[in-house]
Amino acid sequence: MSELTVPSQATAPAAESGLMVQAEQVHKSFGHLEVLKGIDLEVRSGEVCCLLGPSGSGKSTFLRCINHLEKINAGRIRVDGELIGYREHGGKLHELRQKEVAAQRRSIGMVFQRFNLFPHMTALENVIEAPVRVKREPKAAARERAEALLARVGLGDKMGNYPGQLSGGQQQRVAIARALAMQPKLMLFDEPTSALDPELVGEVLDVMKDLARDGMTMIVVTHEIGFAREVGDSLVFMDGGVVVEQGNPREVIANPQHDRTKAFLAKVL
Ligand code: ADP
Ligand code: MG
Repeated sequence: MSELTVPSQATAPAAESGLMVQAEQVHKSFGHLEVLKGIDLEVRSGEVCCLLGPSGSGKSTFLRCINHLEKINAGRIRVDGELIGYREHGGKLHELRQKEVAAQRRSIGMVFQRFNLFPHMTALENVIEAPVRVKREPKAAARERAEALLARVGLGDKMGNYPGQLSGGQQQRVAIARALAMQPKLMLFDEPTSALDPELVGEVLDVMKDLARDGMTMIVVTHEIGFAREVGDSLVFMDGGVVVEQGNPREVIANPQHDRTKAFLAKVL
């Protein structure tokens, strides 16, 4: 597609604009229920954006829109300068083919509250699976990287374990390694520690901190205020399908401006 049909600023890759994610006026409805009412959000390359908000505010839906698991009704989402799910031509949007969507999705890793590992595969097999099946990587190379990734998330001695033989925290660390195996340029975390016993939360947050330090661009939906304060470059507070407030996490947490943010923080702090 000719680049001339699209404003040049809009297609600038992250390397030029510095932006990994650009969401503009994103609207999403399920039937008559309007869940996202015009979300604007920007995440710079290498930054950690923490997304907070009460249950039902649209956080998961928004994350799912970023990798086109949900189709948006209006607006634009760009990842690394590339429009997600659509091609813009003559001012109109045309939906991408499934293959093209799949290619976009491959560069975006996602980690859910529930770990969703394949129960009949070992930790190592879980991490190798997508690179070999989806990317057609040679098995030896995929295995080598998987071993390095599992070691990195502190599971060098558990590679042969099945998910049922791992704690929740260990399973979630395998899920992170599995997402990283696809070498994503963006990682989306949807309440990655919410399903964990309290004593297992820290080991997963530590892995995420390590990733952040390494320069991974991340959007993290979390109620872990300590993580947001320590690791977040930006904090976005959503309620009722809109961004109510955003800014530097330390500032927003210490001095929230809106009543809804104050009420929410009072509950989770
Ligand atoms: P959050 O992650 O902030 O808790 P969600 O994005 O999961 O919020 O949900 C926002 C709203 O959208 C809720 O009212 C939820 O019931 C609704 N919703 C989410 N997914 C669907 C769906 N597939 N069909 C219909 N309604 C949905
Ligand atoms: Mg959710």
